[in-house]
Amino acid sequence: MKSYDVAIIGSGPGGYVAAIRCAQLGMKTAIIEKYATLGGTCLNVGCIPSKALLDSSHHYDDAVKHFETHGIEIPGEIKVNLEKMIGRKQAVVDQTTVGIDFLMTKNKIDVYHGMGAFKDATHIKITGNTNQEIEAKYIIIATGSKPTSLPFAKVDKQRIITSTEALKLKEIPKHLIIIGGGVIGLELGQVYKRLGSDVTVIEYMDRIIPTMDSSLSKELNKVFRKQKFNIKVSHKVTSVVRNGNEVLVKAVNKKGELVEFEGDYCLVSVGRSPYTVGLNTQSAGIKLTDNGQVEVNSQLQTSTSNIYAIGDVVKGAMLAHKAEEEGVFVAETIAGQKPHIDYSLIPGVVYTWPEVASVGKTEDQLKDEGIDYKSGQFPMRALGRSRASMDLDGFVKILADKATDEILGVHMIGARCADLISEAVVAMEFRASAEDISRMSHAHPTFSEAIKEAALAATEDRALHI
Ligand code: FAD
Ligand code: NAD
Repeated sequence: MKSYDVAIIGSGPGGYVAAIRCAQLGMKTAIIEKYATLGGTCLNVGCIPSKALLDSSHHYDDAVKHFETHGIEIPGEIKVNLEKMIGRKQAVVDQTTVGIDFLMTKNKIDVYHGMGAFKDATHIKITGNTNQEIEAKYIIIATGSKPTSLPFAKVDKQRIITSTEALKLKEIPKHLIIIGGGVIGLELGQVYKRLGSDVTVIEYMDRIIPTMDSSLSKELNKVFRKQKFNIKVSHKVTSVVRNGNEVLVKAVNKKGELVEFEGDYCLVSVGRSPYTVGLNTQSAGIKLTDNGQVEVNSQLQTSTSNIYAIGDVVKGAMLAHKAEEEGVFVAETIAGQKPHIDYSLIPGVVYTWPEVASVGKTEDQLKDEGIDYKSGQFPMRALGRSRASMDLDGFVKILADKATDEILGVHMIGARCADLISEAVVAMEFRASAEDISRMSHAHPTFSEAIKEAALAATEDRALHI
């Protein structure tokens, strides 16, 4: 039987990054993955393929709606070749997952393909093409998550689908009904809206992206309505029934009225749930929480002291970069180091266009916590860069402590905000004040000037260009 310092179950961004860091720190490392390709949800059916389709559909949308204004004329009809678009997405996924194989080899990490299950706290049985057993001093659970299902919406993977199927449809839906106005619903909804589908988003809460600052929900809602999305908030879906190629969705609105929607596809995107099926956690004495997460302490250690858990399978935001930070954290903890993660500064991004990005406290949180704050906001449309590229929607908002000027939250919507938010993360990690940012040179013309202007507005209400 092979023996390791560390064995990791699951090869998503949590697991494979943990493996690399363990190997870098000199530990003999193994990683176990039940699927044929490494990279987990993120690389195979999540972050990467969804962004590939968002990019392709964005090009199409630009070609149809904006090229002419730019003075670019394309003779004939501009058409979508969905098969080719999905094929390109798959090629991007394949290149990316092969890249992880390379990283495993480079770092001398042993890869096992098969289902990992605990025999006891130091032994894992791997069931795959061949059945094997390995031993490890430390084990990291990085088994991720699966889409949450609704009891009354049986996913048949053909017409009633999850994000996994939505990433490989064979036709453009005529009417895509989306249950859940969160990140997946809006990103994939925008893909198919751009490709020509009618899209209805049904959200239970009173606003889309309800966990983000409400000003972002309001602005994205406004832009999406301009793009002719049908958005229904405060609607509770009660039934989803497939009838041949049609899907009938029933929901109850705020007034208690029954509302019906008929479409040809229904995407169920109401969150994701931790995945521990088949892991046999009880054999290793590992406790789960009531909602199925692996229970961990502040060191990400489970109830069995040599076993750790990271990523979507534990508490916290279900984000690839959060899983990665935890992978590094656990590897360094096992190596005897004292790493640190500031969970309040993990940015959240929605990759629609305009992009939406946030870090730190929302206005509602500051109010609830009774913190005295000031706010500075700057509209993207006031930037020269925005006019040049015709990306006029959105704004940057900076929330700072009223007494000290320390930045407490940054919320932005607009072109390239997914990348712009890093400036806010760096500033907040160093506990910068709004004035600090307002006195730093920002290249002109860039979208980042909106951050400087919002900081000026927050500091002394003296934005320069508005
Ligand atoms: P996962 O990536 O889920 O990996 C877990 C792995 O463990 C899987 O490969 C699974 O097969 C394997 N596994 C499970 N059980 C076993 C077992 N018993 N034995 C062996 N292997 C096992 N996040 C972002 O930050 N940015 C984005 O843009 C983004 N876009 C997304 C888009 C979509 C459509 C979806 C669905 C998710 C997206 N996410 C995004 C979320 C992101 O994918 C997850 O937060 C991230 O993948 C979690 O990483 P993880 O390592 O915890 O688990
Ligand atoms: P989500 O939590 O972002 O959104 C789910 C939405 O569904 C919520 O707004 C919720 O109020 C709503 N909802 C729940 N039950 C409902 C019901 N019965 N009827 C109507 N609405 C209902 O979850 P998601 O969009 O499924 O994404 C899952 C996870 O994947 C998220 O945690 C997210 O962090 C991650 N993800 C991240 C990205 C990104 O970082 N860009 C992209 C995709 C997914």
